[in-house]
Amino acid sequence: MNQEVELLSRIRIVLVATRHPGNIGSAARAMRNMGLNDLALVEPHRFPDPEATALASGADSILEGATIYPTLADAVADCEHVIATTARVRYVSIPFSEPRECVARLAAGEHPGKVAIVFGRERTGLFNEELDHCREAVAIPTDPEFGSMNLAAAVQIMAYELRLAAGAKLPELPEHQPVPQGQMEHFFGHLEKVLIATTFIDPAAPRFIMRRMRRMYGRAAPDSHEINILRGMLTSVEEALGLKQTTKTFPHLRAGAATENDEP
Ligand code: SAH
Repeated sequence: MNQEVELLSRIRIVLVATRHPGNIGSAARAMRNMGLNDLALVEPHRFPDPEATALASGADSILEGATIYPTLADAVADCEHVIATTARVRYVSIPFSEPRECVARLAAGEHPGKVAIVFGRERTGLFNEELDHCREAVAIPTDPEFGSMNLAAAVQIMAYELRLAAGAKLPELPEHQPVPQGQMEHFFGHLEKVLIATTFIDPAAPRFIMRRMRRMYGRAAPDSHEINILRGMLTSVEEALGLKQTTKTFPHLRAGAATENDEP
C-alpha cells in the first residue's frame, strides 16, 4: 500500500449527534473528495435522509457504508487513537494542536492503527463526557470572535490536511516537448517565404527580421501542436493570397454574406 492510501484508509470520521442531515451529506462529499471512506455516525437525528443524499452529490458510497453507533464510546472502541475537534480550546483539558501539526504526526506514524477524528453537534459541540473518550484535540485557527465553523466545513479542512500530509499531489501534466530543430527550420523557411510574398520582408535583405523571429520562436520553444497551428496560419495566408488552392470553405463568409459580427 502506498503512503497516501495507508494513512487515509485508517482514518475514521465520527460525527456526534448531527442535527442537520445536510451536514452529514456535505461531510460525506468532503470525505470522498479527499479519499477518506470510514464514516461513523453517533445518534444522528435523521439518517438516512434525502437531504443527506442530495448534499453528498454522488458520494453515496460513503453514506451507504456509514455505521451508526449508540454512543461515542462504541464508535471509537476499536480505535488506537481518538482526536476531538473543537472550536473552544480554552475549555479542553486534553493536549491540543492545530490540524497541520496534528496530521503531520499521524503521517509520521505516531499512531499506526485506526485513528478516529470526532466532530461535535452543530450548536453545542462535544460534551465533556465525550471529550473524556478523546486523547487529544485539534482546533482549526479561526477569527477568535467568530470561531465556530460549519460542521462539514471543519470536516473538509481536516480531510484536506490529511490528504496533503499523506503526500497526495495533483496528477502530473504531460511534459512540454519542444519540436526538434529540423521542424523549426521548416517553419522558419515557411515564415520567410510568406513574409516575402506579402512584401513584409525584402528578399534582398531578409536577415535581420528572420534572426529576431528565430530568437523569439526559440524562446517560445513551440511543441508539435503549436508548430502545426503556426504552419496552418501561414498556409491560410498563402491561400488568401491565391498562392495556394484552398480546400476550406466557410459558407457564412461568402463574399457579400452578412456575418454575426457585421455592424447592422
Ligand atoms: N458552539 C460549538 C460549535 C460546534 S460547531 C462549540 O463551540 O463547540 C460543530 C463542530 O464542528 C464542532 O463540534 C467541531 O467538531 C467542528 N468545528 C467547528 N469549528 C471548529 C474549529 N474552529 N476547529 C475545530 N473544529 C471545529
